[in-house]
Order: sequence, then structure tokens, then C-alpha cells
Amino acid sequence: MILLKSIPKVDKFVSNPAFKNCSKQLIISIVKELFENLREEILSQRIDSINEEELVSKTLDKYNQITSSSLKKVINATGVIIHTNLGRSLIDKNVFDRVKEIATSYNNLEYNLEEGKRGERYAHISKIICKLLGCEDVLIVNNNASAVFLVLNTFAKNKEVIVSRGELVEIGGSFRIPDVMNSSGAILKEIGTTNKTHTKDYLNSINENTAMLMKVHKSNYSIEGFSQEVGFEKIIDMANENSLIDYYDMGSGHIVDLPYGLQNKEPSVLDYMKFNPSLLSFSGDKLLGSVQAGIIVGKKKYIEKLKKNQLLRMLRVDKLTLALLEENMKALLLEKYEEIPTLKMLFKTTDELKENATKLKNEIDSLCKCSLVNTSTLIGGGTTPNQRIPSVALSIQIKNYKPNKIEQLFRENKIIGRIENDKFLLDFKTIQDDEIKIIVEKIKEIING
Ligand SMILES: *Cc1c(COP(=O)(O)O)cnc(C)c1O
Repeated sequence: MILLKSIPKVDKFVSNPAFKNCSKQLIISIVKELFENLREEILSQRIDSINEEELVSKTLDKYNQITSSSLKKVINATGVIIHTNLGRSLIDKNVFDRVKEIATSYNNLEYNLEEGKRGERYAHISKIICKLLGCEDVLIVNNNASAVFLVLNTFAKNKEVIVSRGELVEIGGSFRIPDVMNSSGAILKEIGTTNKTHTKDYLNSINENTAMLMKVHKSNYSIEGFSQEVGFEKIIDMANENSLIDYYDMGSGHIVDLPYGLQNKEPSVLDYMKFNPSLLSFSGDKLLGSVQAGIIVGKKKYIEKLKKNQLLRMLRVDKLTLALLEENMKALLLEKYEEIPTLKMLFKTTDELKENATKLKNEIDSLCKCSLVNTSTLIGGGTTPNQRIPSVALSIQIKNYKPNKIEQLFRENKIIGRIENDKFLLDFKTIQDDEIKIIVEKIKEIING
């Protein structure tokens, strides 16, 4: 146990010049833990010598591990535009710059500059959204999941909400309509069958305890074949006739008509607003292409009631969210789609994708075997399930490496691609123009070891 005595004194050890640029407090805490483990290892005779230099480098490793940022930029070469695991929608750099001043200075978030008194946080963006969507009023909450929760809790606590069995969705991150309904206090009234729901199913289920007719977007699946669902416009009619609230959890909620004929299957928020629904909600960072937020639009009297729910205080959004949303909504209103990366990517033509793919191919042709591939990808984010859109990719082959090894090497360099038909692909639908030169550098590093 003589070895125990050779563990350095903490005070002396941390004064090592190797730590001179480090936070002393953090170094001390790491060293104490390290020495504690060392003591145990000595006592259980797992080590028989102590090397101070090794201890210094172990301490620095740990220090760097803790202090480096865990959230990192990655290059999305999967082709999936709204990739939930990779942060969904991007914010344009210039838009972000315009918003920076709001975050880094005081602002009128809840201050009425004309009257010199308290103002309303949600007012900043309501005018622009109402203009954009043709709705009476709007409310912004943390995300669409909280929008659903707030709507159900406000209007259907201890009351029945009628939903088609074909629409009882589970989306990623364990958001399940029956469970959300349950925790909000609403009572789920399932109607119809998995494949078919008729208007009479809604009408037959209405009783004195019914509060709402709800429709949910089938975000990540489709029911094909012998199937039928009731459109939201019909649900709005039935709700009106029975003095009930109609509500559509639209999930993604797009405003701009989708390319590739996709809009034929997916009416936009504007299409639905023409029917004057009670309430409709969707995500800020899916096809709308902005930040994480839940956007609830509809009739003023219902939005007013939502604002009075104490829960709103728990679900409210920050100034950064509102500032980004305001800029993005302005861009949409002015049809400046180039400022919304999600839309920019969506509308990129295969010719443009080919051009970028060729640019990269020319740069790396001498390094590895690569070829242009016509392929297809998904919008993602629970928007248009099972509907593929055309794209262009570059398949990368490296001598002696299998596709999954190549995938791993790229991933270690924060380039996330995909494997298709036993080939590793970089899909250009989601690669940003300024990322091509980064990919070239990374490929050089990968190939040259
Ligand atoms: C995505 C989605 C949600 C959840 O939206 P978040 O913004 O992720 O909270 C809720 N309902 C449907 C139908 C969705 O597609």
C-alpha cells in the first residue's frame, strides 16, 4: 500500500502548468474524482504504479470532454429535408443575423412602446400570421404537441372528443393521441374502424357530453385500399350544426403549395382556413420551415379562451422563437422563399442538384470512385408519408471499405449519408451549397487517413 502514498497531493498536482488555461474549480473536481478511483484501483490491486504525466493527460482529456460543445453542426446528406434527428428545419443565416439584435439587447417583448405600459407577448406576430393565413386570431406555444394538449385541456376537460380510429396516431418521441388526450383530462371517443370512418359515425356518437370533433393528420403512415376518412371541411360543418368545436391537429401544416403534385393529396392551411374552422394547429419547424413552435389558428373567441388557461404560462415561447417566427412569416408573406431553407430545398430542381453533385464529383474524382445516381427521397418530419420526391446523389466507393464502414467514417466526420442498394450515398437534396467545400476537405482527410 506504499503506492497509496505516492498519489500526488491535489493542491500541488493542480498547480501543474499544463492546467494554466483551465478553470481551477473544474480541474480540482475532476482530479478529486480521478484520485478517488485511483485509490480504489490500488486497494483492489488493479494497478501497481503511478505515472504523473499520465494522470495529467487523463485529467485534460476529461476536461476537454466536459467543456466541448455536445451540440455540433452536421451535414445532412440523407436527403430527408425535415429530419427530426438532425434538427428539423434550418434557419437562414441572414434571417438569424437580423434576429440577433433582439436576443442580445433589451426589447419590447411585453412592452407597449406607444402607451408606455405592459404589452402582450403574442401580439407581435398575430397581425402578420392573420394576414398570411386569413385567420381571425393566432396563438403561439412551445410546440405542436403542447398546442394539442392546451386545446384539449381548455375545451374538453372531462368531456368527450370524437376522433376516428384511423387517426389515433403515434408519432416519434412517444406522442400518442390517446395518451395525450388522457393526460389533458379529455375523454377519447373513438369512432369508425381502422380503415373506414363515415360522417354518420361522427353524428351517431355526439351526445350531451361531447365537446369537440377532432381530426388528426396521419403524419407517418397512410391507409390505402378499401378506406375512407371524413375531410376536415365536413367535420367543420357537423360541428357547426351541433354547436361543437372542430379542431384539426394538422401536424406539419404547409402554406406554400407543394411541388411534385404532392399538394393534390395535402390541402394547405389556407385551403382549410376558407372553411372558417374553430381551431387548427401545426408545427413551426416542419413544412412551415421556421423554429420549434406550435401555431394555433382559428376563431378569436376560442383563442381568447386558450389565452386564459393557466397552462399557457408553462407552454409559452421565448423572444428568440417569436423573433425568428416573425422574420420567417414576413418572408412567407412577401414570397421570399429563398429565406426559408426547408422550402428552398423542397423546390430545388434535379438540374440544380446535378450541378452541385457534379461540382463535388469533379473535386474528389481523383481520390475515390464516385458516380451520380438518380434517386428519390422523403420530405420527412411527418409531412407526406410514403410519398417520394426525386433527388440526385453521389455514390461514394472507397477501396477495401464496405458501405457501412464508409457510412461510419463519414459519420465520424459529421457527414450523415445513407446506404441504398448496397452503396453509400450523399444526397444533394439536403446538402447546402456552402457545404460542398467542407465535404471535399473531409473526404481528403478520410482517404489520406
Ligand atoms: C409532428 C406532429 C405533432 C407534434 O408536433 P411537435 O411540433 O413535434 O410537437 C403532433 N401531431 C401531429 C399529427 C404531428 O405530425
